[in-house]
Amino acid sequence: MSTQPKTFFIETFGCQMNFHDSEKVIGTLIQQGYRQVETVEEADLIFYNTCSIRDKAEQKVFHRLADFKRLQQQGKQFAVIGCVAQQEGEKIFERAPHVAMVAGSASYHKLPEMLVQIGGGTRITGLDDRQTDKTFETEFTARSNPHRGYITIIEGCDKFCAYCVVPYTRGKERSRTSDSVLAEARQMADAGYTDIQLLGQNVNSYKDPLAKKSFAELLAAVGETPGIRRVRFTTSHPRDFTRDIVDVIDSVPTLCDHVHLPVQSGSTRVLAAMFREYTREQYLERIAWMRGTRNRDISITTDIIVGFPGETESEFEETLQLMDEVRYDGAFCFKYSARPNTPALKYDDSISEEEKSRRLQILMERQREIQRTNYNRHLYQTIEVMVEGENAARGQWIGRTSQNKTLNFTVANGSSAPRIGEYVYARVTKTLPNSLVGEMVGLTSYLAPST
Ligand code: SF4
Repeated sequence: MSTQPKTFFIETFGCQMNFHDSEKVIGTLIQQGYRQVETVEEADLIFYNTCSIRDKAEQKVFHRLADFKRLQQQGKQFAVIGCVAQQEGEKIFERAPHVAMVAGSASYHKLPEMLVQIGGGTRITGLDDRQTDKTFETEFTARSNPHRGYITIIEGCDKFCAYCVVPYTRGKERSRTSDSVLAEARQMADAGYTDIQLLGQNVNSYKDPLAKKSFAELLAAVGETPGIRRVRFTTSHPRDFTRDIVDVIDSVPTLCDHVHLPVQSGSTRVLAAMFREYTREQYLERIAWMRGTRNRDISITTDIIVGFPGETESEFEETLQLMDEVRYDGAFCFKYSARPNTPALKYDDSISEEEKSRRLQILMERQREIQRTNYNRHLYQTIEVMVEGENAARGQWIGRTSQNKTLNFTVANGSSAPRIGEYVYARVTKTLPNSLVGEMVGLTSYLAPST
């Protein structure tokens, strides 16, 4: 009998939550004696951590399964986990009979048992019925970046926006205790992490099960963890985005100058049809809080859907006007597409694809112009960046600012090169709509910023 450990390959689709779930799945598999490999061909067990937010993402996994079906004859096993697994359930076995495991994110805590079962040749489904209160906590997370890491603080979603599959694929909202989040933050700081991103589908809907801390208090406490220099959080829901969150960003220096606050539409009528539970005015009030901070220059980014069923030309214009008013530093813009099980399926989706594409194009061009101006105001500023990598071909280093902007910088001849994970100051010499270019002027401990 072979004493070699079993090997696994994992491919992840979709959002940061999925990416971080995969880090936890990888850690669990390694702890169970598996070894991670880089190709499907080398692996005994192949995992696809899937995304169903859009049809395209969903189809990708079925293409992969079809491409690699032939490998089943070599004794390889396939597992489909994540949102498509939860959404399609056992139908996946009909479409791809060679799949051995279908498991939604709410069942990952049972992964060790499920591995034993498929090892014994049993086909497994680990699906959630929205009843679970369990979160996937593990001490075995295999983080791929040694300086910057995620902590999930809340899983699932109870908002049921009319267009969104997430409440059906990730179960009900359930938060971890603030004690366990802070213990993980301390553990990460001890391991050398300086940048933490708190994650949740609606991160600011966080409710400490022991009622010890509000979301704002948890943010402050993570930010005050010795050794932590930057704290981010995503994604925020405007309905639960309260004033105390802005106040805490204003007063705790380690909390980053960036908030991603998806608006989805600038029209109150469309927002109501989307079941977003806030009006255009309430959204703009939250923007005003952020613009009114005393010590901060908060960069704001967003998500927008165009062509939602019934969106009129003038409602689309309202979205453009809102963009002009907020002047986002970034916007992920999408055309509406109908998703399974969602309430919007019942709406009359009569806006043509051409019209949706036209609106999307207008929106993206407008945003590009806004970003060009926004980024331009950084010209000649000296900004602190965390060094994330090197682009040797261009002779540049890649840095990330507190505002989550990429700043590619050069290092003068004779100066020592920065180390990855280090914080340095760079002076901006050129601006582009999506990034900044500059030159390093020193390590952050030696020079004060002049922004
Ligand atoms: S808040 Fe709305 S858009 Fe966000 S995950 Fe929940 S249902 Fe989806």
